[in-house]
Amino acid sequence: MGYIMSQESFDAMLDELSSTYRIWAPVNKVGEGRHTDTDVVRYDFVSWVKEIEWEKKSDYAFKEILTPLSQTLFFFTEDEVKEANRDVKDVLVFLRSCDMHALKRQDDIYLHNGKERDYFYDQMRQHVHFVLMGCSHSYQECFCVDMGSNQTKDGYVFSFDIIDGNIHSDVKDETFNNVFKKYAGQEKDVTPQYVTENDVHVTIPNEIPLSIYKSDMWDEYKTRCIGCGRCNFVCPTCTCYTMQDIYYTDNGKVGERRRVCASCMVDGYTNVAGGGQYRRDQGERMRFKVLHKVYDHRQRFGYDMCVGCGRCTNVCPEYISMAAAINKLNKTVEELKNE
Ligand code: SF4
Ligand code: SF4
Repeated sequence: MGYIMSQESFDAMLDELSSTYRIWAPVNKVGEGRHTDTDVVRYDFVSWVKEIEWEKKSDYAFKEILTPLSQTLFFFTEDEVKEANRDVKDVLVFLRSCDMHALKRQDDIYLHNGKERDYFYDQMRQHVHFVLMGCSHSYQECFCVDMGSNQTKDGYVFSFDIIDGNIHSDVKDETFNNVFKKYAGQEKDVTPQYVTENDVHVTIPNEIPLSIYKSDMWDEYKTRCIGCGRCNFVCPTCTCYTMQDIYYTDNGKVGERRRVCASCMVDGYTNVAGGGQYRRDQGERMRFKVLHKVYDHRQRFGYDMCVGCGRCTNVCPEYISMAAAINKLNKTVEELKNE
């Protein structure tokens, strides 16, 4: 069922929904960008349509609602462990099609990657519902079409498009029909907007020979990449974390355990006991990241991890392009095949 309503009516509906849900959406944070006098679009809780950043692509992904940058899992004393309290109110998350596809990758890793489901992710996941934001045009560095993540047909409770000042919604979850009927001026079939063409294109090799590990294609990144890890923190599909124990006392027996977001591009990520380090330079780390995004995940789950959102390219201080790295990988694989 589809509905069209004014922004004022949608606000009234959000107000009613807010008694059941918190609403988490991209917000333009004025003056909080990386450079002076620049803005950044990151997720936050909102109450009204005008707070939702509709025009720009979010610089950061929705994933922090499921996997916060730093999350206290439990507290411990000498003889007791207590799980940290959680806000269990349900959340409506506004996100675009590429991020809906990224959610599937997050679920793959945290819920379907072995016998055990990740307990803490699972707890949060049950309380999170998704609102699909349409895309009326492609954004800088997006290559979602080539990655097949430009359109989403299910998995959302309703969609959200602003067209000529009105909200157009395709309601997928029947439990929302009553509230939409109450506030919408018009019922009409609605298809969420999606892009069919990007400026940026990638070609991903089907098979990758083992010799790619020794290729000099990675050398450029040894000096160019500064290992800041920004690309991982903005990526909607990166899932790595590390553990931190914070001790409140000198005896080291009272404190809390936190799960903290980690980056495969940052020095120390592959350190192991005895002083070993599996990937020592930025070339090796870039090789791992690129192959993880467009090869390893496919071997495990049947499709690539990268959804082509382009955020890693947008945020990189060294202008390292993920799409260019994928295309360079493809070219190198073709050359290796002909050797
Ligand atoms: S384009 Fe970059 S940020 Fe986006 S999913 Fe792919 S690797 Fe992650
Ligand atoms: S954002 Fe750029 S410079 Fe920083 S780790 Fe990623 S690729 Fe390297």
